[in-house]
Amino acid sequence: MSEDNKTGRKGIAAVSEMKRLMADHFLALDKAKKNGSPKVAWCTSVGPAELLHAMGFLVYYPENHGALLGATRMATDFIPLANSVGYSPDICSYLTADVGSYLKGETPLTRSYGLESVPMADVLVYNTNQCRDVQDWFAFYAREWNVPLVGIHTHRNIQAVEDYHVTDLVAQMKDMIPVLEKVSGNRFDMERLRETVRLSKECTLLWREVLECGATVPAPLTFFDATVHMAPAVVLRGLPQAVEYYKLLLEELKERIASKVAAVDNERHRIYWDGMPIWGKLRDLSRQFMSLNTNVVASTYCNSWIFDAFDPEQPFESMARAYTELFIVRDESYKEAYMDEWIRSFSVDGVIFHDARTCPNNSNSRYGMPQRMARRLNIPTLVINGDLNDLRCYSEEQTRTNIEAFIEQLDETNGKGLS
Ligand code: SF4
Repeated sequence: MSEDNKTGRKGIAAVSEMKRLMADHFLALDKAKKNGSPKVAWCTSVGPAELLHAMGFLVYYPENHGALLGATRMATDFIPLANSVGYSPDICSYLTADVGSYLKGETPLTRSYGLESVPMADVLVYNTNQCRDVQDWFAFYAREWNVPLVGIHTHRNIQAVEDYHVTDLVAQMKDMIPVLEKVSGNRFDMERLRETVRLSKECTLLWREVLECGATVPAPLTFFDATVHMAPAVVLRGLPQAVEYYKLLLEELKERIASKVAAVDNERHRIYWDGMPIWGKLRDLSRQFMSLNTNVVASTYCNSWIFDAFDPEQPFESMARAYTELFIVRDESYKEAYMDEWIRSFSVDGVIFHDARTCPNNSNSRYGMPQRMARRLNIPTLVINGDLNDLRCYSEEQTRTNIEAFIEQLDETNGKGLS
């Protein structure tokens, strides 16, 4: 099994198929813009993508572009451009990097796929289940291009998903249909929606299975692999390509498990990562954990594209439920119980919380959770200060030192936790 020269991790062969699928995705969007058909909808990453596919749109996800801007380290140069037109350095750095990229007229899609620009939206569709920033982000482009902006306002910070949440969200989704019909030129078709929800359900079950492979000791994949291989679950769910891809990936991971192939040689420690990835530093962090024989085996972030509730028999209700059941929508008591379960079932011996400066929504260390967790599970926790995209908020030296000290602490406490 070859080692990937760039990451130092064992290469996953399915990645070449994933790269092909992503290229097809962006080239199809580009072609649609050039031909004027089919129409392009922008959608938030945990938004109502199934409805958009069912209406015949090609779907583009700006957060995926935001992550690309971070991973290519272009974000830090573009963010000040958005700041200069009034978008604060303290708000979502996906938003500021993306708007800055637009203002500068540059995108990583040019180098990777030959696109001159991101595909302009014919309609912008958001869901505030993750944060309010997505609404303001899409509103920028609605003003810029004079295209319709529609969205769903999800109840947030909730303990349980109640029937009245679902009823409200179903009504909001149905209210969007006339706008979507007008822009797409297609009539809403319930059977098509059922089929899209069925494909999303299949994708989600396979993606869950992929992530659950990480529970094996030693784990056949890392969080850093998962941040790459989650792309089809984000941008292709609702399409058959995503389902086929995860069957392929799962087969490879099961072979690894059968042959006891570890993603990290001599795996000594198993970490749970909470919060956003630090996109521009994934490679460096992956290498550091490898050198410490430590595997980040599970994360809240990659789990965000598990939507257990999808049900083709009740497409609207199950979408409403699936998009509200998400971790990011829930209150601290739910989040803690959820994480406890994954930590126990993945034999985790330490938890790292990433406090992302510009994403309070996906930072769970600000209300005492690491301290409560450390007491409750008798497990060491560490908070890293950084950001998803804005590397000015991240100290390489300090983080490296803190992780080293944390792993030393795990060496001392190993086997004493989770009592
Ligand atoms: S959840 Fe965080 S990273 Fe995602 S769009 Fe909202 S503020 Fe940005």
